[in-house]
Amino acid sequence: MAKRDYYEILGVSKNASEEEMKKAYRQQALKYHPDRNPGDKEAEDKFKEAAEAYEVLRDKDKRARYDQYGHAGVGGAGGFSGGGMSMDDIFSNFGDIFSNFGFGGFGNFGGGSRSGGRRVSKGTNLRVKVRLTLQEIANGVEKKIKVKKLVSCATCNGTGAAGGSEFSTCNTCGGRGVVTRVQNTFIGQMQTSSTCPTCNGEGKIIKNKCPKCMGEGVTSEDDVITLKIPAGVADGMQLVVSGRGNAARRGGVAGDLLVVIEEEQHPELTRDDQDLLYNLFVSIPDAVVGTAVEIPTLDGKVKVKIEPGTQPGKILRLRGKGLPDINGYGKGDILVRINVWIPSSVSKDEKKIFEKLQSSDSFNPQPTKEDKGFFKKMRDMFE
Ligand SMILES: [Zn+2]
Ligand SMILES: [Zn+2]
Repeated sequence: MAKRDYYEILGVSKNASEEEMKKAYRQQALKYHPDRNPGDKEAEDKFKEAAEAYEVLRDKDKRARYDQYGHAGVGGAGGFSGGGMSMDDIFSNFGDIFSNFGFGGFGNFGGGSRSGGRRVSKGTNLRVKVRLTLQEIANGVEKKIKVKKLVSCATCNGTGAAGGSEFSTCNTCGGRGVVTRVQNTFIGQMQTSSTCPTCNGEGKIIKNKCPKCMGEGVTSEDDVITLKIPAGVADGMQLVVSGRGNAARRGGVAGDLLVVIEEEQHPELTRDDQDLLYNLFVSIPDAVVGTAVEIPTLDGKVKVKIEPGTQPGKILRLRGKGLPDINGYGKGDILVRINVWIPSSVSKDEKKIFEKLQSSDSFNPQPTKEDKGFFKKMRDMFE
């Protein structure tokens, strides 16, 4: 369906002033306001149509584009190219226009109340650091941590008032927790609400403050928190334990406990995501004739066979000996990189042996294609 002309919708001439346009829109909006036309789909469409027209025509730039190019000029840039404005858009943009006409400008319609109301206070988040070894990360661990945190005051039960219910209604806001101010602006009277400064939005005032917490409803105490750390966490990761942070002043919602993971370096194994890297050094004779070595893992040492003729740079993979995925998707590996240790000084006898080997055919390098592909292999393994 073709869009109707915006001027026609508002019932104004092409030369209408801003003031005329605003008046016209207000008339339309009130006529088709959903509160007056409950369940009337046609009225809702007209209501939306008027809002869309006004949204364009009240803006000098958009109006100029519309005058020149019609709907095409304001389609994309205006943001209403699709199905026009939503009810929420309309109320958040033009809600003030209704405030003098007995409708709650906001609220009443669609989403929750926007005109304020009593504030529920939330406690601050508490951040703790937990240092873990790779073993603890591999298996998951339970840690008890001592923290200083705000807890609900035991003397007044978190109310902040001494001796039970000693509250009086706040005079400034009459118990509503918000104060409303009416201002004159270019689109008419505008109502703004803000948190009551006298009672901080609580709507009530304590007559006699609790002596223990000075009316705050919270006190700072030492607390021991038991943390269940899942397997597979990593350095810098932050776990959120909801509602275990600092208590809120006078009966609000407690903040969250943020657990920041710090990883202790393992003396021999280096973490690479879920894999663990280990640098193994073998002697020249061991690399030539083969041997068995012990490799450290997170659950004890394992014996690994080094085949005769092992090249330096070769990587052995111990499957499943790495760290578990935090979501439980399998385990990483231990990657053992083999280095051949070259002594920097040798005895006379040893030197003679190597000199003899220098002229030996089998010690003359004859790398295979696979040996030459070593750099690529390294990259594949470690990146
Ligand atoms: Zn108290
Ligand atoms: Zn108040």
